Amino acid sequence: AKSNGKNTYFYYDESINKDLMDKIEIQAQLRSAITNQEFDIYYQPQIDLENEKIIGFEALLRWNHPTKGVILPAEFIQVAEETGLIVTIGEWVLKRACEQLKEWENQGFPSVILAVNLSRRQFRDKHLVSMVSNIIEETGIAPNCLELEIKEEIAIEDINYTMQCILDLRQKGVLFSLDDFGTGYSSLNYLKHLPLDSLKLDKSFIDSITEDRDSRAIISTLISLARALGINVIAEGVESGSQEDFLKDAKCNQAQGFLYSEPVPAKAAGRLLEIVREG
Ligand code: C2E
Ligand code: CA
Ligand code: CA
Ligand code: CA
Repeated sequence: AKSNGKNTYFYYDESINKDLMDKIEIQAQLRSAITNQEFDIYYQPQIDLENEKIIGFEALLRWNHPTKGVILPAEFIQVAEETGLIVTIGEWVLKRACEQLKEWENQGFPSVILAVNLSRRQFRDKHLVSMVSNIIEETGIAPNCLELEIKEEIAIEDINYTMQCILDLRQKGVLFSLDDFGTGYSSLNYLKHLPLDSLKLDKSFIDSITEDRDSRAIISTLISLARALGINVIAEGVESGSQEDFLKDAKCNQAQGFLYSEPVPAKAAGRLLEIVREG
């Protein structure tokens, strides 16, 4: 049924309409979040499975919304990506994360490695390499303490671009890791060619450890393969001791997950570093 006048929109699919309204609203609020500095970074430790010490952290974006409280990336990162706002937000994340890394260095933790996520738009941005170099210079961090994470799915879209980009960044000394590995249907052959420092085994793999023997066989094989290629393996989303036991047996290098710590604010992350130093 069609109608004229003000109520026309009731005849369209209301859920689509609502989604669109949500997006427009999130977009407007994201803009003001940038101006009002409502973003924050939480840090989740990455653990060396050989000695159980903290090697570094992954920087994870949080939005302190004035009325809704802390909002997780799942609620807004896609809109930020679609509107291109992620480029500005992502640059802020990298700057702030590097400042924090420098602070830890000044507090006597010189070898902390900080992993920062790059979105598709950021990765494709033609100013990426100069943006990263400028931030390294401004903050004075050691470039080999910075690791950039890019999702497998994005990395394999244009393998030549990815290769060039990684080479350019690695020339500056920056480390590179392939995020959510195992979700992007990539050929294992890519692993041989991409100049990677680390590979992050997706949480879905880790979840399957306790489920069946075939999954365990696949994970062990992936870990051995990566190690044979000189790539460091990080297990994501480790939640249980039995998952950890398996990963240790399989010679996985590092782990990250709620078993060790949730992502925490910078101060709490600093305290974790103190505890490890004193312990
Ligand atoms: P990701 O890069 O795969 O980050 C890991 C996510 O898994 C984080 O969710 C973390 O809190 C969660 N996690 C860690 N350990 C566990 C565990 O043991 N169990 C469970 N259930 N979850 C665990 P978070 O912080 O909500 O971030 C979600 C995604 O948002 C990230 O996934 C990443 O894709 C994106 N993201 C976060 N921060 C940024 C950023 O600064 N820039 C960009 N472009 N994307 C970001
Ligand atoms: Ca990540
Ligand atoms: Ca991941
Ligand atoms: Ca991750």
